Amino acid sequence: MSTQVLLATSNPHKLDEVSAILGSIGIEVVGLDVLDVLPPEPVEDADTFEGNARLKAIGYARSTGRRCLADDSGLEVDALGGAPGIHSARYSGVGDCREERDAANNVKLLEAMREVAQGDRAARFVCCMCLADPDGTVVAESRGTFDGTIACTPRGGHGFGYDPLLILPEGITSAELSPDEKNRRSHRAVSTRLLVDQLSRPIE
Ligand code: IMP
Repeated sequence: MSTQVLLATSNPHKLDEVSAILGSIGIEVVGLDVLDVLPPEPVEDADTFEGNARLKAIGYARSTGRRCLADDSGLEVDALGGAPGIHSARYSGVGDCREERDAANNVKLLEAMREVAQGDRAARFVCCMCLADPDGTVVAESRGTFDGTIACTPRGGHGFGYDPLLILPEGITSAELSPDEKNRRSHRAVSTRLLVDQLSRPIE
């Protein structure tokens, strides 16, 4: 097993989170910023998180010649048939920067959930990961979730995206968790650990 993987992100927070977990089994994780020339971004046009993570991992692995890890994540709300799902980042369709998009997405979600009863508000953040080789082989795949219910009003100042709207089993929102605790428990952390389990398993 090669000891370095390219993580298909330029987001330093994601890089830190994933590096900490994969580092524990001796895998060094580097971001897209180590590349001299940025390859074209693969088109993510699958209709599942798994499919998009695969497209991204295989696309970057092929174009860079490196073993590559990619993720796709979002929020699934049962009462909305799984929406916003793979469209989470641009659910509302408006906003010129991430903060504006996040705020408009939260307004749209609250409106869509206005009539939904307390017992029917189950939801979860999902993170799917795929590790692929330059020849297109999928080495490992995983899915992690972070489960809760959708709030009626936003709460909490940490995090990003839909964090102020996901109430966790203990009654606080994801945006009320400290960043360290969120990073330990999140869908990304769960997905990364499941990937580690697969990579650490002895070959039969
Ligand atoms: P990405 O795949 O990490 O870019 O996430 C896609 C979208 O899903 C984000 O723009 C957010 O709207 C939502 N999302 C993913 N992870 C989280 C999270 O941890 N908290 C809040 N929203 C999230």
